[in-house]
Amino acid sequence: MTARVLVVDDILSNVKLLEAKLSAEYFEVITAFNGLECLAKMDQGAPDIVLLDVMMPGMDGFEVCRRIKSNPKTAHVPVVMVTALDQPSDRVAGLDAGADDFLTKPVDDSALFARVRSLVRLKMMTDELRMRESTGQGMGLIDPAETLTENAQAGRILVIEDRAESVAWFSNALAPGHQVSSADTFEEALVRVKGGDFDLIIVSLGMRGFDGLRLCSQLRSLPEGRHVPILVVVSDGDRRKLTQALEMGVNDYLTRPVDKNELVARVRTQLRKKRYADRLRHNVQLSLEMAITDQLTGLHNRRYMSRHLDTLLIDAKRSSRPLAFVIMDIDFFKQVNDTYGHDIGDEVLKEFAGRIASNTRGIDLACRYGGEEFVVAMPDTDIAFATNIAERLRQSIETTPVQISRAPGQISITISIGIARCEGGDDSAEKLLHRADQALYRAKRSGRNKVVADAA
Ligand code: GH3
Ligand code: MG
Ligand code: MG
Repeated sequence: MTARVLVVDDILSNVKLLEAKLSAEYFEVITAFNGLECLAKMDQGAPDIVLLDVMMPGMDGFEVCRRIKSNPKTAHVPVVMVTALDQPSDRVAGLDAGADDFLTKPVDDSALFARVRSLVRLKMMTDELRMRESTGQGMGLIDPAETLTENAQAGRILVIEDRAESVAWFSNALAPGHQVSSADTFEEALVRVKGGDFDLIIVSLGMRGFDGLRLCSQLRSLPEGRHVPILVVVSDGDRRKLTQALEMGVNDYLTRPVDKNELVARVRTQLRKKRYADRLRHNVQLSLEMAITDQLTGLHNRRYMSRHLDTLLIDAKRSSRPLAFVIMDIDFFKQVNDTYGHDIGDEVLKEFAGRIASNTRGIDLACRYGGEEFVVAMPDTDIAFATNIAERLRQSIETTPVQISRAPGQISITISIGIARCEGGDDSAEKLLHRADQALYRAKRSGRNKVVADAA
């Protein structure tokens, strides 16, 4: 894996040392020698990760970190504090400033690479979501997710540990702000994660009964566990386990003896990231839905119908079941616009769409095909049955005027309908549409307010 690493330190030899180590591992390294330079470099082209010295003249590392994390443009870039300070209180100060981790000088190579790779990998997953989300925004489909900078609220946390006194300790430490539950066997842990909606899973790697790492790997492969952050607890000095855990994709770690404030700070960071990723995913989902939905009526749009009709045809031919295709067009709709205005015309379209939806079945695919033209694909439906449904809808539109919010309160309209069916063989969506269109044309020509089925 390659990544752009920004190394920030006021002492040249420190910068050179880290630069040499990282370059040898094929990371791209950029450097800065004070806080302001760091912030300027962040602005120019955000790196994938920042290794940040704490003690620097002028702006110290804590302040630089706070600024990176409070800027929506850079808040998602992981920051690792590299420092001679090694007290839990120093780590907590860094975590409170928004840092993702701490490395103590002199930096151990394997710890450095493991942590950088892990944080970069985790960032890439969010980058992918951010990119898709911003495409959705660019298309005007969705509002941006709030940034990563907001404060996290309470979370539902599952502690996986088979030593009762340790479970009690975690529960006590986290209970004030969070909802904590626990599991003490492999099976119970899996069941809880499958059934529960957790925001964070804490896995002890020092359990007596089973291997916590194996559990982590299983959790990652569960659909319900894939997006839940995992924080592992390792014995101080158990480097091998920690490296394995990071490579497996766990999000963060704590070393025993666990400092309570550090626990609280790391949990807060993970919950904040989870909420942000959840919102990104939600927005991406939303923009996918909006891309196939007609904004005025809420029905599927033409793009979706075009794609989906091919699939429906293939299914119909393969199963030798009928498929009916219905196209509807409001008669003299231009007059509605001309008489009452475009906004009222929109209301008529909306209500008409609602009446189509309530007159079709769940398996029918209703779409707004264009201006005042709507289509419904009806799987497993022959021409006679489709004609019945169409006739019922035509009559209901004719006899029950469309209700609108403003004067004149209601408007009477009529519709013309054309119907065609899948002919099997080398029939295509294009041909089917054409035949339905021809039938609609005949309905219009023969006086409108009619249902005409393709003669074929
Ligand atoms: P016909 O009976 O032959 O179908 O006559 P028509 O007036 O309905 O047909 P025509 O295709 O000439 O006009 C369709 C009108 O639909 C013209 C256009 O302004 C209107 N229209 C298309 N899209 C919208 C829309 O989103 N909102 C509104 N209010 N009107 C629309
Ligand atoms: Mg029309
Ligand atoms: Mg028309």
